[in-house]
Amino acid sequence: MTTEALYQIFLKHPSVSTDSRNIPKDGIFFALKGPNFNGNAFALEALEKGASFAVIDEKEYRVDERFILVGDVLTSLQQLGTHHRLHSGAIIISLTGSNGKTTTKELIHAVLSQKYRTIATSGNLNNHIGVPLTLLRIRENTEIAVVEMGANHQKEIEFLSSLALPDHGYITNFGKAHLEGFGGVEGVIKGKSELYTNLISRNAHIFWNADDPIQDGKLKGYPNKTGFSEGAGADQKIEFQDATPLVRLKVENTEIQTNLPGKYNFPNAAIAVLMGMYFRVSVSQIKKGIEAYLPENNRSQILEKNGLKIYLDAYNANPTSMKAALEAFGQTPGKVKSVVLGDMFELGESAAEEHQAIADIAREMELEERYFVGENFFKTQVKGQKFRTFQDLSAHLEQHPLKKGSVLIKGSRGMALERTLEFL
Ligand code: ATP
Ligand code: MG
Repeated sequence: MTTEALYQIFLKHPSVSTDSRNIPKDGIFFALKGPNFNGNAFALEALEKGASFAVIDEKEYRVDERFILVGDVLTSLQQLGTHHRLHSGAIIISLTGSNGKTTTKELIHAVLSQKYRTIATSGNLNNHIGVPLTLLRIRENTEIAVVEMGANHQKEIEFLSSLALPDHGYITNFGKAHLEGFGGVEGVIKGKSELYTNLISRNAHIFWNADDPIQDGKLKGYPNKTGFSEGAGADQKIEFQDATPLVRLKVENTEIQTNLPGKYNFPNAAIAVLMGMYFRVSVSQIKKGIEAYLPENNRSQILEKNGLKIYLDAYNANPTSMKAALEAFGQTPGKVKSVVLGDMFELGESAAEEHQAIADIAREMELEERYFVGENFFKTQVKGQKFRTFQDLSAHLEQHPLKKGSVLIKGSRGMALERTLEFL
């Protein structure tokens, strides 16, 4: 079936799903394949659960005319997403970067939806499946779509950009994340810059953080851009006030109090302010949007339990975000502070060195307890207590509960350190 023919069906049945456990009524099920499953085998079930059509790529699963046979389901989903994007009137803003994409995406959404009908990537659906799914959530009345794009190897952002064809783009930062797949820090810069290459090739507009030297270097000479800076010299001055512990900033005499801890969250909020101003959202509405946004999903959350103040940042970790979080935690008020740090994944050859570097930073800090969890930290020379597995840590915490004060909890997703909460 041609993309145009599929598009005509999609226009009448615009709810798209790739998960047979969650089938919206009257929509289209795309039978994707994964390493451990074949969506074709769930197509009939999806139809029985209320889907109107199922897109499949293995003809033996076809039962009746509700099955749409294509060459490759994933390619059809991606082509449909781009086709729809090209036929919709929505403005597309894409963002990528090593850290802070989801937080920034949510802040931009919070600001722009004060004035425009805005959609954004749900959760972290930022890959070759999530990007088309996001594009397919654009409706006739959608004015702006904010599309998060994630990557852990070269050419991925190039491909995602070619799917989304953004009108505007932003790279949060170039940090030490997914070093293994990208081939070191230079590889990260190259890989993330694929968004710039795509935007520049189409003379699209770039938002940028003028205080980031890498962004500054990459964008020199490109005219179609709008930037913020803490000082003078960019299109908009946005001042960092403090982070004690929550980031406060100031723009045109208006103070904005975010719910996000740590100075590393300042650029995330600042770019949302800048985009709001660019799209003529009033400063008071921008303030309202940012102040209403509360982080969720174990990202930059502040919780209280049994007299402990918990900085839960267990959503993910890499050397850049780990260092930023430790620095921010060091500056929070309070005397009795502890850390629970879990392994950082996907670092390849740099793993030993990067874990040691984080352990060294923690050693320099004035801390009550330093708990390190995971195989990588276990191998380092550290001052503090090391646990090879989470079970070892939890057994220890059951016997020796943390004293009062505050605690920072951070590690890679696979460590799932939010489980620590049960033992505090
Ligand atoms: P993912 O790659 O999983 O999609 P992401 O880029 O979407 O991650 P977020 O989920 O927004 O990032 O944030 C994850 C964590 O990264 C935060 O909890 C925080 O510790 C850290 N972080 C957020 N913004 C920055 C930043 N600008 N610089 C460094 N670290 C940051
Ligand atoms: Mg994300």
